[in-house]
Amino acid sequence: MENYSNDISIKIKLTLEEMYSGVTKKFKYKRKKPCNVCKKPRGCTNCSGQGLRIEESIEEIKIPEGVDKGMVLKFKNRGHYFIEKKNFWNLFSNKNSHTNNNVGSLIINIEEVKHDYFSRDKADLIYKCQIRKSDLTKTDKKFEIKHLDDEIMTIQIPKNTIDGKIFRIKGKGFKSIADNQTGSLLIIAKIIED
Ligand SMILES: [Zn+2]
Repeated sequence: MENYSNDISIKIKLTLEEMYSGVTKKFKYKRKKPCNVCKKPRGCTNCSGQGLRIEESIEEIKIPEGVDKGMVLKFKNRGHYFIEKKNFWNLFSNKNSHTNNNVGSLIINIEEVKHDYFSRDKADLIYKCQIRKSDLTKTDKKFEIKHLDDEIMTIQIPKNTIDGKIFRIKGKGFKSIADNQTGSLLIIAKIIED
């Protein structure tokens, strides 16, 4: 039970590009760490005899590809250090005192930065394209889009496509963390009447 209060919870906003490829982020947060002055807990003014001190910590955390908004990632040993009461007095009689410490987790809550032209539904990446009806009466419509990993893709919308038609390009969505499957790129045709 004691573990919970020693976890540190933070929010992070990721772009779809970062979610797609994964990203290593540096986090700066306040964290209880072992006091580096302590010899006698009662006499230590550095930590008021607590054995621990709140310090600014910079941690590098690897966010895996495929994470989605609303997900909660837990990284062990990146939270607050804590000393179990039964060990408190032992700490200071032992040269390697702080190896007895326990450490809570860093809890990262994932949020999404709105993208200029893509959106997302779970493992699927969604692109809505607007095409004039008159551009589709005689020929297909071709255009290029830049994927989240900068790949240039050529999209072809067949002539006479009706409004709302969805084209699925398999394997071009997000990698799902749950089942390791890769989602699709969905191209949604928005046909504009001239
Ligand atoms: Zn101290």
